[in-house]
Amino acid sequence: MAPLAGGEANLGPRASFTRHMVMISNDRLLRIFAYANHEQVRDSIAKLLTRLHKEGKLSTLPGFEHVTPPSDGEFNPRHLPPREDHKPKDLPVGTKVCIVGAGMAGLYSALILDHLGVPYDILEAADRPGGRILTHYFSTRKHDYYDIGAMRFPNIPPMERTYDLFKRTNVPLVTYHLTGPNTPKRYNGITIFPQNGEFPVKGDPFRVSESNGGSVPDDKIDTLSSVLENAFRLLREAIKKGDEEAFEMFKECDDFTVRDYLEQKVTGTQFKLKNACRSYVQERLTLSSATGQFDAAFTEAVMDSVAFDYWEDIEEEWKSVEGGTSLVTEALIDMIRTKPRYNKRVTRMAIDRKAESNDMMLVHTNYDEEPIRYATIINTTTLACLQRVDTDDLELSPTVKIATRTLQYDSSTKVAIKFESPWWITKFGITGGGVANTDLPIRVCVYPSYNIHDNVNNPAILLCTYTWSQDATRIGSLVNLDSPRGEEELKGLMLYNLARLHSNNDNFDEVYAMIKRSYITHHGFDWAMDDYSSGAFAFFGPGQFRSLYPHLVRPAADSRFHIVGEAASANHAWIVGSLESAYRGVWNFLERFHCYDLQEKMVKEFGTIPELEIGEEGFAHLLVLLGMLTPQQLARPEKTVVKEVTG
Ligand SMILES: Cc1cc2nc3c(=O)[nH]c(=O)nc-3n(C[C@H](O)[C@H](O)[C@H](O)COP(=O)(O)OP(=O)(O)OC[C@H]3O[C@@H](n4cnc5c(N)ncnc54)[C@H](O)[C@@H]3O)c2cc1C
Repeated sequence: MAPLAGGEANLGPRASFTRHMVMISNDRLLRIFAYANHEQVRDSIAKLLTRLHKEGKLSTLPGFEHVTPPSDGEFNPRHLPPREDHKPKDLPVGTKVCIVGAGMAGLYSALILDHLGVPYDILEAADRPGGRILTHYFSTRKHDYYDIGAMRFPNIPPMERTYDLFKRTNVPLVTYHLTGPNTPKRYNGITIFPQNGEFPVKGDPFRVSESNGGSVPDDKIDTLSSVLENAFRLLREAIKKGDEEAFEMFKECDDFTVRDYLEQKVTGTQFKLKNACRSYVQERLTLSSATGQFDAAFTEAVMDSVAFDYWEDIEEEWKSVEGGTSLVTEALIDMIRTKPRYNKRVTRMAIDRKAESNDMMLVHTNYDEEPIRYATIINTTTLACLQRVDTDDLELSPTVKIATRTLQYDSSTKVAIKFESPWWITKFGITGGGVANTDLPIRVCVYPSYNIHDNVNNPAILLCTYTWSQDATRIGSLVNLDSPRGEEELKGLMLYNLARLHSNNDNFDEVYAMIKRSYITHHGFDWAMDDYSSGAFAFFGPGQFRSLYPHLVRPAADSRFHIVGEAASANHAWIVGSLESAYRGVWNFLERFHCYDLQEKMVKEFGTIPELEIGEEGFAHLLVLLGMLTPQQLARPEKTVVKEVTG
């Protein structure tokens, strides 16, 4: 994702307020983050239990016979009914799991199931594994590639599972430089290269102030960067005091877009910043790296910062996979026992309640093929792809259907160019990776870190543009599915704008000619146009985290259907979200069949995940119990409508 606090380093994929959050203690922030997830889920479970109890149903529902309701009938999210002591069971003979999709979530589910000795199939719509892990290789020469999907990974506690996967797959890692020396910025037609490693911190170099015809009051131009920090003060103070209050604020903020929050929430009497905030938004709209992201949820922006909160201290700890992230996929494919079945697009999933055996789940592929039966389905597709599957007989709750349809995804487009030589290193001294930000259509140019030590006389790759949101849609309209074929306009736009980014009026012609001479070929990719994802990654809108996320993580269809994948995770938009959600899917599958011994085995090898509270006092068992209820059991009893008799 793109940094909202633009003009700073590009901190994607979901960066935003990082710089302003560094004041918050990392541990506290992580705690509130996990706490917020748990509370959302706990809240929704408590509400449902309370309703079922009030309707007099609870004790009659399978699994809830021994649940003692609180004396006032209101279930407390923090004291949910504990997990009952069941005898551990073996998995019923013949149990087979269907994993839909061979991306990170699918392959990781397979890895865990292999360890537990549970049989599975992987049905993959595409003719390749990896999903949104995709490396384009221009040739087999070293470093002659770019990562179209995931490409950089901060080595911080929330990403631990990703690094554990790197270890398991034994892929080579190389330092990824978020910032590097001599990277330019260009806004309002003005290119600035840093002087002695610094950009001017005062004044109005890009002319956004009123006296330069912009919208920022002249007297605010030097203080604007502190406005956002002030905006966070309330939340920060609450976090310092304790989790509960912070969570309440989190909940309150969830309904705001970033723009709303800045313009309304922090402009009350406490801060008296209304004008400054407006100006700030205006200024940031110009200097940000992705047009449109001020309209995402404010909490999304806060959560983004979890990864980047560590950034200042441990920049060196960002890594990428040397040779491309696809190496992880290749290694996983080698490791898992059952290889994916390709060109198997799942088109219908259903539960057959009349089935007499354990394989009650029906999976149809490619519309007309014979359905295959399984005991459980772990679905890893994006929600856009799930929306295209017939799920009428899958007993999904209406809220899950709403989530599938409405949960917001961001777009992202990348275009990489192969040049005769790395002219940005030899001519501009951009020797250590990093990014350039601009308001030109290319918006963000990434100087790769993996090729900085290569021979400068050899061809080199530049990620000419990495865009999100509306910027991505616009560049994406020039990208063809068989890129680079028929992309003269895209090629022209890229080369011309690279020249503008690296020049001013006086030397544009010279720079443009040099860049054109050096061009060999290019490749572009627009994730919104990808048949197998139809979007880049989840980027929740206001209110969606609170209202939709708790429903997405609850199983359905007798708790035999599990939605996992990047979007169904609090860490969405990162590989780690896919991995953690896959863990949840397998865990809940085992819970459904009371396979506690296998759960123990899973914990021993794969640890636990922060977003699922397991154990007696946790909520995982309740998600599964509630997921086993039929839609009829969950429905409200019909109200008797008394008609008024007139006359
Ligand atoms: C541009 C971009 C940049 C990113 N950058 C980073 C980064 O730097 N660091 C990071 O950690 N993460 C990053 N991410 C996120 C990361 O790539 C994803 O979170 C992760 O790869 C998603 O994996 P998944 O298994 O959840 O979903 P997917 O990879 O989408 O896997 C789902 C699979 O399901 C298949 N499928 C779809 N429909 C069907 C169907 N009907 N039947 C059968 N199969 C189907 C698809 O073909 C696909 O293989 C980035 C993502 C993008 C798009």
